[in-house]
Amino acid sequence: MSAKIISGTETAKVIREELQQEVAELKDKHNIVPGLVTILVGEDPASQSYVTAKNKTAKALGIYSEQITLSADTSEQELIDLVKKCNYDDKINGILVQLPLPKHINETNVLYAIDPDKDVDGFHPVNVGKMVVGEQCFLPCTPHGILELLTRSGVETSGAEVVVVGRSNIVGKPIANLMLQKRDAGNSTVTICHTRTKDMALHTKRADIIIAAVGVPKMITADMVKDGVVIIDVGVNRIGMTDAGKAILAGDVDFEAVKEKAAAITPVPGGVGPMTITMLMKNTIQAAKQAAGLV
Ligand code: NAP
Repeated sequence: MSAKIISGTETAKVIREELQQEVAELKDKHNIVPGLVTILVGEDPASQSYVTAKNKTAKALGIYSEQITLSADTSEQELIDLVKKCNYDDKINGILVQLPLPKHINETNVLYAIDPDKDVDGFHPVNVGKMVVGEQCFLPCTPHGILELLTRSGVETSGAEVVVVGRSNIVGKPIANLMLQKRDAGNSTVTICHTRTKDMALHTKRADIIIAAVGVPKMITADMVKDGVVIIDVGVNRIGMTDAGKAILAGDVDFEAVKEKAAAITPVPGGVGPMTITMLMKNTIQAAKQAAGLV
């Protein structure tokens, strides 16, 4: 058996068309243009490319987009002052501070300064708390994208044994929590594995769905999964360079071997990655509608 490929690229394309339509309607019917600001501190090439991709996508959808780049020696207070200015800027509905920040800046202090109503990354504790209790809020973009991928691919999550590998605040913990919620794309029985898990294969072998967010290339091997498993591979690991100087990427799952046992699997690249940016756009549009009292 060779697995069905769950294409994030294709799913994201469909959702972006829906969002483009929604932005056009907001403009036509309500004269509203959703606005997003991305704030980058320093010159990390990976962060630069993420921020550029976010702004490009926003513009393509008709979202007003500002890209602010600050020097690496910007102080924490200067960054917080900028965030607060954006909190009061009516053109801006969503504020994204690109992580990681330089070591001398406390990320938590900066993220807490963002108005929760403009926290389109879903990292502010107000939104995290609402997510945990199952209230309407901005969901963090990568877990939000995984939910959309599962739903739109017709994967049954109710009653499924879900094993999440990784417990970061941006992927592992929130996706585990969301899969547990009493709602569509939830109602799963969830296990979370991490570096202190004693026998990871014991858990992964009985999983109906594995969500790997580890950052270790090809860590989930074919002998660790059962036949018919659904695999969501969040990992993006650079494992080399092509002769043309392009990064060669691998996920956290040994794709070639595991796809022969799985019922469905996301590729890397082209799986979860394109969904993350798309959900940022969805959250920004949601923020604009909320600000205008339309939802
Ligand atoms: P992270 O903050 O480094 O967290 C990694 C998690 O994996 C930690 O909980 C860690 O456990 C666990 N872990 C690491 N090595 C392990 C091992 N050998 N055995 C068991 N558990 C292990 O990473 P992250 O931010 O969640 O990102 C994970 C991966 O997803 C990375 O490759 C990242 O680039 C990718 N990512 C992709 C997207 C996207 O849009 N596609 C978005 C975000 C992240 P401990 O807690 O015990 O240390």
